[in-house]
Amino acid sequence: MNSPQTSASQHPAHHMPIPGLTDPVPVARPITPRADGRIDLLGVARPAITELLIEAGLEPKAAKLRAKQVYHWIYHRGVTDFAEMTDIAKGLRPWLSERFVIGRPDIVTAQISSDGTRKWLLSTTDGHEFEMVFIPDEARGTLCVSSQVGCTLNCTFCHTGTMRLVRNLTPGEIVGQVMLARDALGEWPKGNMAGFAPDTDEEDEEDTYSPDGRLLTNIVMMGMGEPLYNFDNVRDALKLVMDGDGLALSRRRITLSTSGVVPMIARTGAEINVNLAISLHAVTKQVRDEIVPINRKYGIEELLEACAAYPGASNSRRITFEYVMLAGKNDSDADARELVRLLRHYRLPAKVNLIPFNPWPGAVYECSPPDRIRRFSEIIFESGISAPIRSPRGRDIDAACGQLKTSAARMTRAELDRLAEEKLAALEVGD
Ligand code: SF4
Repeated sequence: MNSPQTSASQHPAHHMPIPGLTDPVPVARPITPRADGRIDLLGVARPAITELLIEAGLEPKAAKLRAKQVYHWIYHRGVTDFAEMTDIAKGLRPWLSERFVIGRPDIVTAQISSDGTRKWLLSTTDGHEFEMVFIPDEARGTLCVSSQVGCTLNCTFCHTGTMRLVRNLTPGEIVGQVMLARDALGEWPKGNMAGFAPDTDEEDEEDTYSPDGRLLTNIVMMGMGEPLYNFDNVRDALKLVMDGDGLALSRRRITLSTSGVVPMIARTGAEINVNLAISLHAVTKQVRDEIVPINRKYGIEELLEACAAYPGASNSRRITFEYVMLAGKNDSDADARELVRLLRHYRLPAKVNLIPFNPWPGAVYECSPPDRIRRFSEIIFESGISAPIRSPRGRDIDAACGQLKTSAARMTRAELDRLAEEKLAALEVGD
């Protein structure tokens, strides 16, 4: 790893290109000094923070201790200013501030829906916009996190799919969404850190450390992008979220949703093992090829076999199958029965989420009528598989499923058709 100065001069561009068609875009380097040479520690694993401190001049033993303290302040307390790290010697705090920052994605706009759903338009430091959505419920609060700016794929019912893939988000930009949500929800514990003050001047001894009741209880990787086409960064970010010394959210409260990047499903199980959700949306090759074009590369059978092999899937930890209800396209009784047959055939511990289609300007589909959705749900329930109908959230602020799209890339119909062709060609060439 380079020192900040040498890195900045050797890599004046912030991104390095990655060749290939399913990873066709520049990907930000995970540890990139900012224009002023300082390194953002958000999203950097603890051992890597230790290394950075050693490179900056600390002795290895001191670096390890400081890394532990800094890491704790970042993820347990939400602190972004080294001056507030009261268990670190006063003289060392400005030394840290000169060399490092603890960043957040920039907030471009924040909107609140009439139903309480919140949507943020965020920006990376190099000016790319992406979105995150917080959906509060009575019993839980779910943050829908983006993994890419735009998307590699082109699901025809999805607004994000009409965007070109701009780039993958870094681990810092992914975990940064969770940090920002906790900032906005006022969720960081207040008070001192009893038992975590190995040295020096604690300034807030009056208070007691109390992790407050969390509003943000669940995370779904279902925002913009296909997370399994940005696997390493998503994995590294989720490790920080799950780490008991990091954000300490249980893997059972995290769901990763994929449109079906079959070869990466086994790695997801082995390396992250969070809950799995599949954007299934159709049960025949013909229809799924059309609405989830990655199906032309990895078919339904292959996908369901990979699901059946997913470690940890059980009746208490079911795989969710997302199914968007499109009028006259995928919503017949026969489709519902075929869905049941497939889930039984592969012996999948499954639940089905039925999502009424959320229209967006230029969409070619309509939502199935309520009676049709109810009947579809009943057929699945009658077979013993749960199939709740999701009530759309945040429609008035375009925050609902499949509606996320930043204005950065508005295109004409002809441009959209060309883009769809390009993405399909990329899928056919392979990864
Ligand atoms: S549904 Fe997901 S994978 Fe498909 S285009 Fe939209 S964001 Fe991409």
